[in-house]
Parts: sequence; structure tokens; C-alpha cells
Amino acid sequence: MSFYDEISKYNWSEVKDFIYSRKEPDVLNAINKNALSLEDFAALLSPAAEKFLEPMAKESHRITLQRFGKTIKIYIPMYVSNECVNSCVYCGFNVHNKFKRKTLTLDEVKLELDVIKKTGIKHILICSGEHPKKVSVDYLNEVVKLARKDFSSIIIEVQPLDENEYRILYNSGADSLALYQETYNKDTYKEVHLGGKKTDYRYRLEAPERAAAAGLRTIGIGALMGLDDFRVEEFFVGLHARYLMRKFWKTHITVSFPRIRDAEGHFKPTYLINDKNLVQSMLSLRLFLHDVGLVISTREPAELRDKLIYLGVTQMSAGSKTNPGGYAAGEEEGKQFEVEDTRSAEEFIESVRKKGFDPVLKDWDSSFINAV
Ligand code: SF4
Repeated sequence: MSFYDEISKYNWSEVKDFIYSRKEPDVLNAINKNALSLEDFAALLSPAAEKFLEPMAKESHRITLQRFGKTIKIYIPMYVSNECVNSCVYCGFNVHNKFKRKTLTLDEVKLELDVIKKTGIKHILICSGEHPKKVSVDYLNEVVKLARKDFSSIIIEVQPLDENEYRILYNSGADSLALYQETYNKDTYKEVHLGGKKTDYRYRLEAPERAAAAGLRTIGIGALMGLDDFRVEEFFVGLHARYLMRKFWKTHITVSFPRIRDAEGHFKPTYLINDKNLVQSMLSLRLFLHDVGLVISTREPAELRDKLIYLGVTQMSAGSKTNPGGYAAGEEEGKQFEVEDTRSAEEFIESVRKKGFDPVLKDWDSSFINAV
């Protein structure tokens, strides 16, 4: 049984009605509990919980200190390609958008890596559009092998793959996967994914399981905030994270909260997600799942990221460029979306230190794989 079977037991509008029907006593009851049920989690995501963000933040901070200490794991993205065969209405890389497309040659990848490694960050996120020919598994495998020389942790954020393909990349040194379902609502999913393989909701939904089965040690999931009601989306993100944590107990599960940013095509989100909504989502997830990693990227502005550090975040990106060649060649064209926190990696690392947190630039070594 996969998560697809699990989620199929739920009805979107019934879950929505349940979340919206929660009252203040349900919220207070949930905040004061140690082990939360799904019903408690729904209460924390409800409109009634908005009055209680402060006690939720205190609790989130306490749990995060207990589980992770005062640490923030830092990673840096490298876009290897902006070519894509899919047509997702919210994305700058949509096949119908006209701009200069590029997939880095392996020599260009080496140049990017040389610049990125100077930051001292040892966790690299390899990103690309979904173009199985231009960004094939063979190509990705070569990129992973190159990155392996200078980086201890390699996260892949590419098209969903079969289990044996994930295994190939794992054997070359990729240890983590980031793959967002975008929206857990099947109907909305259909409306925003108009063409290409990404139209297959189930194949994408089950990809984290295939990656974990192939051995990858960290799996990042999330919903793209703005496509549907965030309260219901985050409920299903939590359900998905709990399912993965139970089924793959050796795998660390992380959740991201990407909000739609301006991109080529200028898609206007159906639902506007304000800062309060983002904070409520993050705090609810932390109170529901104490060991889940919480990720905030440079999509968010510096001032907000600085505040979120105290509330339960465990991982943050730094110094991001969202186009291929953005570091070495200084390319400005062909970005997936606009970055909001434009501080350099060094500036961001320093600001984390000043807040009394440890910026973790390396927390993984390949020798671990060989030792277990
Ligand atoms: S979201 Fe991914 S698959 Fe969709 S257009 Fe953008 S890069 Fe391609």
C-alpha cells in the first residue's frame, strides 16, 4: 500500500469542513498535548488557531531545541538546466515561456561548482527543469559524480524517477531528494499541470517512496503555497510526512513551505498566502511531528527568514541563484523564480551566527553510507 492509497481514503472538502469547524478549546487541547492526533493537527491549522500563534511558537521553539539544538543546516542550490517539457502554469520554466534555454555542459558544471565551493557550504541542491532527454539520468549521474568531489551532501530536485534510477544516483553519491507535490488536491493538480509527464499525479506522489526505497537518506516534501487552501494542503503534507516517517524510519523527512513567487509568465496565485499563514503552517507541522525537518528557502525575504529562525526552522538555503550559470557566468536570464533574500551566502551564515545559532555547513559524510 502506498501513500496514494492512504490519501485516497480522504475527501478534500470533508477535510476542509473539519478543519474550519475546529473551535478554540480544540486548539488549546492540541497545544497542551505531547503526542498529537490528526484531529489535533487539524485544529492547529484552523482559523480558530490564529489567536494562539504565540503559545504555538513557544512550544515549537522548545521542541525544536530539544530535537535539533540551536542549529540551522545551510544548503546552496545549483541549477543545471532551465529546459522543461512540462507546462505548469505557475512556473517560469514552463515549456511555453519564451526565453533563452540552457543545460550546462559538464565543463560549465565544474565552473559553477568551483565558485559554489568557495562559500564553504557542503550541502548542494542540484535543480533542473524536467527534460528527460536533455537532463537524463546519465547526465545527472555525471553531475552528481562531479559534485561528490567537493560536497558531502547532494540533494537532487529533478523530475520524479523510477526506483532503479534513484538507486543509480544514490550509488554515485546523491543522498537526499527534494520533490514537492505542488498540490495534494487532484482536481487542482489537473488544472495547473497542463502538459507533459508531470500531469501524472500518482507517479509524482509516490516518488518519495521510491527514493526512500532506493536508499536516499533525506526526503523533502511540500506543497506549493498558493495553488489551493493552505490549511488543507498542509494537513495532507503532514499526513504524507507521517506516513513516510513510519514506513521509512531510517529516512529523515523534511517539509518545505514554498510560496509562489513572480516568474516568467507572471502567474497570479489563486490563494494569497500571507506571512501569518506561513508561520501557522510551520508551527502546526512542528507540534504535530517533532522530528520533521522544516525548510525555508531564499524565496522568502530576509526579515521574515530572520524571524523564522527562532520558531522551528532547521534548514535554510543561502546565496541562491535560480538559473543555470548563475554563479560562475553571472547569467541573469532564465530564472525559475525571483529570489527574495538576496544576501550572499557569507552574509547569511554570519547573520545566523549573530543570532546565537550554529550554521551547519556539513552534517553528513559518505563514509556513513559505507559504515552502515
Ligand atoms: S515546475 Fe518543474 S516541471 Fe513544471 S514547468 Fe517548472 S520546471 Fe517544469
